[in-house]
Amino acid sequence: SKVNYPEEFAGFAVIKTEEWNKPKYTTFKPKHFGDNDLDIEIECCGLCGSDIMTAKGNEHGWGTITCPQVVGHEIIGKVVKIGSKVTLHKLGDRVGLGAQAFACLDCNRCKHGNEQYCSHGVTTYDGVYPDGYISQGGYASHVRAHEYMCFPIPEKLNSIHAASLCCAGLTVFSPLKRFIPKNLPNGEKPKVAIVGLGGLGHLAVQFCKAMGADAYVFSRTNSKMAQSFELGATGFIATGEEAWEKPYFDQFDLILNCAIGLSGLNIDAFLSILKVEGRFCSVGLPAVDEKYNVSPFTFFGNGSCLCSSALGSREEAIELFELAAEHNIAPWVETIPISEAGCEEGLTRAWNGDVRYRFVFTEFDKAFGT
Ligand code: NDP
Ligand code: ZN
Repeated sequence: SKVNYPEEFAGFAVIKTEEWNKPKYTTFKPKHFGDNDLDIEIECCGLCGSDIMTAKGNEHGWGTITCPQVVGHEIIGKVVKIGSKVTLHKLGDRVGLGAQAFACLDCNRCKHGNEQYCSHGVTTYDGVYPDGYISQGGYASHVRAHEYMCFPIPEKLNSIHAASLCCAGLTVFSPLKRFIPKNLPNGEKPKVAIVGLGGLGHLAVQFCKAMGADAYVFSRTNSKMAQSFELGATGFIATGEEAWEKPYFDQFDLILNCAIGLSGLNIDAFLSILKVEGRFCSVGLPAVDEKYNVSPFTFFGNGSCLCSSALGSREEAIELFELAAEHNIAPWVETIPISEAGCEEGLTRAWNGDVRYRFVFTEFDKAFGT
């Protein structure tokens, strides 16, 4: 079937959260076309853990969503339409879009390189525009977004790799850049713990190395040990084992938690491996009804802190693409041609942890006749 662009976009949408892993082909109206908007004809799109958590909605996901909902926010494609005030991109450019489609660019946060925390921000899917339009994501023929949220992609990066860098890559690069300590005494190398080796985690390991830090992978079982070393890790610890934290007391400058759930996480144990005033930063975001279980006494022991980090800024995205191109950082990717069956396979297998380490949907031209 051929999509009726520009009147309509087509995509694979979650119809109800009970069937979160069975998106159906659907057509939909795009948002109002703003002066700073552009349309991307999508070439490929990665599958992020967030797609699953959003699609699951109240079925132990991130809560209520508006259906039908097209998820997907690791988008690469070609600019096919630009608003009258667009200056950052031109027709035909290859661009990337991550998890954010709009920011006001006028508030204090936006003006200081923190547009990912803009209180007027709109996410790439299931976000609400001021006129009430619900944003739709990248398992689709096209996506419409603010030019500032679209990133130029260096020629050296192929589209399939660049896709996953737009969300997974940026989400780990931003806190690593902000929180890996610089200038440790005696030229010591910073030591970073990466918790959960999935789409985000396996990129975090590679970025640590490129940023001059040693990465240690903390995974629930031993099954990812050999691949952790292949990715460049300095150490590997299986956290299913009793008292795993004991040998690592006072060792780490930073912990980056990339786990999608909390059941396998002993936060007290993790905080104990931090140096004084070290930081446990979570990019992993579990189901909306989950709570951390942590004792105040643990923080008392080392003055450590617990925080989160969301996405990253445009400036950081551009920097990470350069770094990835320079250091040959690439996600380990398995591609799936996009279709109803393909979406079901990807979402189901990713939820079961059956991917090393990222799915990217491809062949959009065939599915949508673009
Ligand atoms: P993946 O499914 O690829 O990886 C998640 C990893 O978490 C798994 O590989 C596994 O690692 C670990 N894990 C799974 N279940 C549990 C559990 N119950 N307890 C502890 N660990 C578990 O997901 P992604 O990498 O795509 O996403 C990770 C998280 O990051 C998600 O919550 C996602 O929504 C969030 N996210 C946040 C963003 C942000 O801006 N902060 C942006 C993008 C995603 P192992 O087998 O090694 O233990
Ligand atoms: Zn994501």
